[in-house]
Amino acid sequence: MDKALIGIVPGKEKYVHIIWQVNDTCNYKCSYCNEGNWGGRYRNDNFSEFESILQKIVSHFKGQNYNNFKIFFSGGEPSLWKPLIPVIEFFRENTQNPRVAINTNLSRSLDWWKKNYHYFQDIIASFHIEFADKDRYLDNFKFLQYRIPYLVSRVLLHDERFKEVVEFAERLKSESDNYYVEYAPLMSELNSHSEDHYYEEEWKRKFIAEHQLDRQKEIDFCNTYRPKETYHEELREGGRKESLNSNRLVALGENRFKGWQCWVQECIYIHPNGDITMGSCRVTDSIGHLSTGEISIPKESVICPFERCNCGTDISVTKLHPEHLNDYIDSFSIPITSSEGSL
Ligand code: SF4
Ligand code: SF4
Repeated sequence: MDKALIGIVPGKEKYVHIIWQVNDTCNYKCSYCNEGNWGGRYRNDNFSEFESILQKIVSHFKGQNYNNFKIFFSGGEPSLWKPLIPVIEFFRENTQNPRVAINTNLSRSLDWWKKNYHYFQDIIASFHIEFADKDRYLDNFKFLQYRIPYLVSRVLLHDERFKEVVEFAERLKSESDNYYVEYAPLMSELNSHSEDHYYEEEWKRKFIAEHQLDRQKEIDFCNTYRPKETYHEELREGGRKESLNSNRLVALGENRFKGWQCWVQECIYIHPNGDITMGSCRVTDSIGHLSTGEISIPKESVICPFERCNCGTDISVTKLHPEHLNDYIDSFSIPITSSEGSL
């Protein structure tokens, strides 16, 4: 059995995370989602309105000796967002080799992906049974499978259509030859503090347990084209490190960091309404807003006040168990000045 998790630490070098929930516009309305993701109140279509705040964010982190930026776009459906490519171009021009990730429902046409795939290093292709065009999803996935360093099909386990979702995953595996499938149980709501959805039928709970808890079964994959570099690592008691797998931590309930020191100041979260906070967990009050162009980024880490850390990017933020702070704090160059997080 694994020793206790005591930290999430940078792999080779420290990273800035910018998570941008670009708007609340989506071409789907999944029953397990909520209006905050598809309501269409905030389109944020005008790039010129937020270019200066992006400049401020980049300058702040360069001044803190952060050289690596990871930008993660979600939504809504971010591939439909007009400024998507101009924003990526901005980061390409102003930072060194930014890593660009997108969480998409893969509903854009194959032509769109052919034209734009080269902008992305990570694609999380969520499959939503109620709305997805299965053939289009598969055509896109098969096109991307050898072109994207990290591509995962994230199949959402719709409770009533569970079997159909699993059948689709089997079809994807039989038709692709470089796949990476993640079976994603539903949350009671799609937000960062939500608890797991409870599946009444035992066979569904068994399926989830079998496909999540065992490392080999948790994700089916052909290991032919995966990134070699480790960006973040799990640190276990005794000092053993391994590549971070946030899905496994969630499945094992190891995403509970209440009382831990968390360097959330390396994680900017831009909300659909333009509000900017640290982390998707909103552990800080607002630190700026797209519409005003004003931003004040804290330099302190926080003590996590939350029971769960649900978002994959929040999980990958550097953090240490309080009893092990002194043992490891010198091994990465991030200041420890801290404040108490607020609920
Ligand atoms: S595709 Fe994603 S954002 Fe859109 S409605 Fe479904 S779960 Fe919500
Ligand atoms: S919930 Fe927020 S404060 Fe807590 S560990 Fe995750 S990112 Fe850090």
